[in-house]
Amino acid sequence: MTNNNDNDTSSCPCGSGTLFKVCCQPYLEKSQAAPTAEALMRSRYTAFVQYDEDYLGYSWHPDNRPKVMHLNAETKWLGLKIINTVDGNIDDKTGEVEFVARSKINGKASRLHENSQFARFENRWVYTKGKLSNK
Ligand SMILES: [Zn+2]
Repeated sequence: MTNNNDNDTSSCPCGSGTLFKVCCQPYLEKSQAAPTAEALMRSRYTAFVQYDEDYLGYSWHPDNRPKVMHLNAETKWLGLKIINTVDGNIDDKTGEVEFVARSKINGKASRLHENSQFARFENRWVYTKGKLSNK
């Protein structure tokens, strides 16, 4: 007996520096709700990395959620950097997270700089909309 079923030691794709199983995994499995807008943002990035369309839909406000997800299998996500957060804490009703996500699409480097907005919906954080930044 050297292992148990809980032996996944992979670090979380969101770049938090902690293990996936104690970072975004409980959110993606919906066993826990992300406590802050930033945590939800990180979990959504991880869902993009893992092509988890179900979770991306779940974490999107139903009024804004696209009917069909267009996840591009050619996109390889390379990293997430949180630039700034406004509100989005446990006691807030809305929150904003500015981030840069780097990727490669068909081998070509791409950089997404977005200001995402989040709101409380059914007692959990959801993504409402994002504004691209040209900064
Ligand atoms: Zn994570």
